[in-house]
Amino acid sequence: MYEAVIGLEVHLHLKTRTKAFCGCEAEYFGEEPNTHTCPVCLGLPGALPVPNRQAVEYGLRLALALGSRVPERLVFHRKNYFYPDLPKNYQISQYDLPLGQGGALPLGERSVRIKRLHLEEDAGKSLHLEGRTLLDLNRAGSPLIELVTEPDLRTPEEARLFLQHIQALVQTLGISDASPEEGKLRADVNVSVRRPGEALGTKVEIKNLNSFKSVQRALEYEIRRQTEILRRGERVKQATLGFEEGSGKTYPMRTKEEEADYRYFPEPDLPPVPIPRSWLEEVRQSLPELPWEKAGRYQALGIRAKDAEALAYTPAMARFLDRALEVGLASPQALANWLLADVAGLLNERGLSLEESGLTPEGLSRLVALFERGEITSRVAKGLLPEVLEGKDPEALVQERGLRMVADEGALKGVVEEVLKAMPEAAESVRQGKLKALDALVGQVMRRTRGQAQPDLVRRLLLEALGVG
Ligand SMILES: [Zn+2]
Repeated sequence: MYEAVIGLEVHLHLKTRTKAFCGCEAEYFGEEPNTHTCPVCLGLPGALPVPNRQAVEYGLRLALALGSRVPERLVFHRKNYFYPDLPKNYQISQYDLPLGQGGALPLGERSVRIKRLHLEEDAGKSLHLEGRTLLDLNRAGSPLIELVTEPDLRTPEEARLFLQHIQALVQTLGISDASPEEGKLRADVNVSVRRPGEALGTKVEIKNLNSFKSVQRALEYEIRRQTEILRRGERVKQATLGFEEGSGKTYPMRTKEEEADYRYFPEPDLPPVPIPRSWLEEVRQSLPELPWEKAGRYQALGIRAKDAEALAYTPAMARFLDRALEVGLASPQALANWLLADVAGLLNERGLSLEESGLTPEGLSRLVALFERGEITSRVAKGLLPEVLEGKDPEALVQERGLRMVADEGALKGVVEEVLKAMPEAAESVRQGKLKALDALVGQVMRRTRGQAQPDLVRRLLLEALGVG
């Protein structure tokens, strides 16, 4: 038996108005190349960087949410390397005094320790085209958080779950959209394989994974590859790998620079500044309810643990649920069931997000309440959902179409008689004790009442009419 030991390095784009060290607007997704640049982010001689207070504050929010230690001073270092898309030939980053050290992210029953998180600037983008290389420097200088975990993860699924939790956390904190499809969340993974209890094996790094699915697939492939090498009694070689989506395989990349190659030194243009404890306290006070706190609150309201977690870690759903809970018409677990099953399914089918749909917390609450009060059947409620999703009023629909549940024994007895006459074989089976046949009879009564008959009552009336039970 072998087990994998996995650590992650996550890059998150911060949702600041301007870039990390200049006044250029940081939202450039889909814009003309090289339109969001200035002497500072182009690295022109004589231009001086100024730290973006909002970027630092966003970093502090994440550090405090994860319970990381925040240093007394904000210190930046230069990380020197040459790439065509790095105009200054160095990246302003942090080195021995990152914005956060230590801390942990809860992951189900466990928690994953955080090694460090620091603030840095992103590079630009190179586009290789027909033997030429084009540069777009819109991204150069935009603020990033790099977050490094301890090697606490054990399976590809866990790594994927960790990323989903980090995504939910930073979205809840309002500091990053963390959308992998826009390149706003990227991950590198470290993975080694060993027999449980043994010392750590040789790790390899897989770089630039830009979707949760790639992280999982790359790890699955790499763990298989390393396990086979160990089974043959050979050794895994340390390496930096890329991942090819098409084949689902990892491949060797350039050899990784050693730390010494980066020649880190304190950024002379940005002298250290204190991080006042009063500011830290202000930031701490302004933190919203965190996803794991939300999950705890939902559970206390009677929502099943698994559902509570699923909702709390889907920020749009959590916001919606919180507003529906304020409306107070439907029970928390019923709202959870509807959101996670019917609403999620329908949104998925239509390719819509919750915000894009016309569904309001009031609308869903009223629909669910009609069902919970026994005024409509579950079948009618489900049938109305598509229209309620378009913003229609559930009570008005029920009224207009006369969809209220029929719990009137007199009215239902007639239908029961008709059904028993129409389905003599099923009726006979039930009389002989084959209760399975009862479902067919109930179904037929439901059909004839357009799904409006109260199912329990129909069941009882059928059994009475057949002299069973
Ligand atoms: Zn700029």
